[in-house]
Amino acid sequence: MTGPTPGAARLILRRLREVMAEGTSAQARLDKIVRVVAANVVAEVCSIYIVVPGGELELFATEGLNPSAVHRTRMKKGEGLVGDIALNARPLNLADAQSHPNFSYKPETGEDPFQSFVGVPILRGGRALGVLVVQNKTRRVYDEEEVETLQTIAMVLAEMVGAGDLVDPTVLEETGLRRDRPFRIRGTPIADGVAIGQVVLHEPRVVVERLIAEDLGHERQRLARAIEELRAFVDDILSAGPTLEGETRDVLEAYQMFANDSGWVERIREAIDTGLTAEAAVEKVHSETRARLLRQSDPYLRERLHDLDDLANRLLRHLAGVADTASRLALPPDAVLIARSMGPAELLEYDRARIQAVVLEEGSPTSHVAIVARALGIPLVGRCGELLDRSETGNAIIVDGETGDVHLRPTGEVRAAYEAKLAMRAQRQAAYAALRDLPAVTLDGVGIALNLNAGLRSDLPHLDETGAAGIGLFRTELQFMINPRMPRLQAQADLYRAVLAAANGRPVAFRTLDVGGDKVLPYAEALREENPALGWRAIRIALDRPALLRYQARAFLLAAQGGELNVMFPMVAEVDEFVRAKEVFMREVNRLAQSGRAAPERLRLGVMIEVPALLWQLRQLFSLADFVSVGTNDLLQFLFATDRGNPRLGDRYDALSPAALSALSQIVKTGAAYKVPVTVCGEMASRPIEAMALLGLGFRSLSMTPAAVGPIKAMVRSLRIDELSEFVAKLCASPQRSVRESLKEFALNKGVAL
Ligand code: PEP
Ligand code: MG
Repeated sequence: MTGPTPGAARLILRRLREVMAEGTSAQARLDKIVRVVAANVVAEVCSIYIVVPGGELELFATEGLNPSAVHRTRMKKGEGLVGDIALNARPLNLADAQSHPNFSYKPETGEDPFQSFVGVPILRGGRALGVLVVQNKTRRVYDEEEVETLQTIAMVLAEMVGAGDLVDPTVLEETGLRRDRPFRIRGTPIADGVAIGQVVLHEPRVVVERLIAEDLGHERQRLARAIEELRAFVDDILSAGPTLEGETRDVLEAYQMFANDSGWVERIREAIDTGLTAEAAVEKVHSETRARLLRQSDPYLRERLHDLDDLANRLLRHLAGVADTASRLALPPDAVLIARSMGPAELLEYDRARIQAVVLEEGSPTSHVAIVARALGIPLVGRCGELLDRSETGNAIIVDGETGDVHLRPTGEVRAAYEAKLAMRAQRQAAYAALRDLPAVTLDGVGIALNLNAGLRSDLPHLDETGAAGIGLFRTELQFMINPRMPRLQAQADLYRAVLAAANGRPVAFRTLDVGGDKVLPYAEALREENPALGWRAIRIALDRPALLRYQARAFLLAAQGGELNVMFPMVAEVDEFVRAKEVFMREVNRLAQSGRAAPERLRLGVMIEVPALLWQLRQLFSLADFVSVGTNDLLQFLFATDRGNPRLGDRYDALSPAALSALSQIVKTGAAYKVPVTVCGEMASRPIEAMALLGLGFRSLSMTPAAVGPIKAMVRSLRIDELSEFVAKLCASPQRSVRESLKEFALNKGVAL
């Protein structure tokens, strides 16, 4: 065998293109391909083995071996040289094949005279679908270029096998690549709701259709341009400042590593030189790198597999001139977005009316995108590893944000079951909607204020839809988080004005900026803190950088236009912090008065109780604050010393524990003694059983996610508070770790709708 030059490789590819274009059967094309390859690489043998159902490799075509062995000779993965190549997804290049310890002799093939052997895996997505082999009688080591040529041919073969023309496509399932069978995965339910729709990949995948190049110079130029664009993109983001969160930064650094890795780029260039299009070259090198990473046992390197997939995909999108995210494409009306991860701003770029659900491979319940999805009423399921690999745009999909189940390409029965579930939910929703105009009053006549938690303009219609009493918590930081730049005074004031207009006289409690911790602003200087939840956040930033607070105070005052205004401060740990924040705020009120504008007719400044230290300053606090809102999400994380975002600790401690209930009881009792209004605005207030416990403790105002208003109102209207209060008072003294079961039993016995 005289080694093929890149020119020879190109000649082979040209011949292959002719063969592929023939309208003959896949087997006939394969038979021709082995002849073309053998003749052009000057080998006495060229054979193609393909993985068949059951996982064995079968000889599908040969030039040079005994033709009667075709479709008879088989070997397991790992068996013999061919099996070794398939198992390890890497080439073998041997001058004396028969002395290799893995050599296994198959007499029916008549391969004994052949000494030298080179075989390459037929890879797709980094996994072997078969093996391409050439053999010669003389002992020789094939050079790198020859191996490269065979890999290029294998790439073209992989597309043939992947198209399902040669073997039953079940084989693709065994290699994990099948994308036409039902697949079910249970992730973490993050935002409630059920959706039946079709897959839209947030980052569109480019299908490489043109494999063999017509004009190499043109392909080289296209690659160079796409690489330039890719590098510029990564550098831009990385140089935007040290503001990225840990994970995003890791991903980008991995991107940068590959994009600047001259080896990676060089290999793509070489693949073009052998006659592939730029897209096919990217795919080929990606598949080979992927195969290498799949062999790694180091979890860090295997993690990088995702980064590599993302990067190759992005490069392909640059080559194809396709948009980076599907938000710019025409979407079907029942789109279910699938992504590895997504930021809140990215989700907001989509047309809400067309997005039925979102499924992420990563994602946690307290992530920002989760807050936005809940606010938009989009069901969201997270932690669905492998889903991207298995999904294809347009696949049918069912997402259950209640249980975390995701059914890709569901069977008829599953779909029917979900249609029934949707109908049930619609019935339940209709029942809640019917409650909308009924008062939230208990059976024994106690009125409860049911308020909304909000933070986006898109939350505002929920006020009328739910019939809520007002907005108990307006998270102003969301506007800051979803904007690429700090919102200006006017933009802030505009939003607050829209909120007050939508509330139309119903009370609204604005919370000042609660940033820091896990709430990162894209444009602010990020601090690397050991314990961000305990770090420089919320009111701590406001007091150290009072200009920010003053600016926001001005926006509130402008929006209130002399009307009523309620503002509260997050993460207060000592009463003195509230006193100082109040001073800053009042300075703006005075400034307003001096400039001749109307001060609010009623200004109330409140405090969020989120830090346990305040529990020992309740009397001082209640004598100074106009109102109090309990942020149980943070209060409980600090009370139990458990990170609220850590899924491992998710159910380690129960909010319905005697300790938590006792703390909450103290707050509500002191509030009553000082006649200061108290609300609970943490997630506890959104769950019927927890909310029932809060009412039992004496809370009469709750603030919740919009979807919770119906269920909570149904609970309130089926409850007698006098019986409940006595029952809950006893539970505070219980030695149990959780009193949840006792509360459930109470509800069951008394017919409370939970
Ligand atoms: C809380 O901590 O309970 C709260 C309502 O604030 P956030 O969830 O925004 O931290
Ligand atoms: Mg909080």
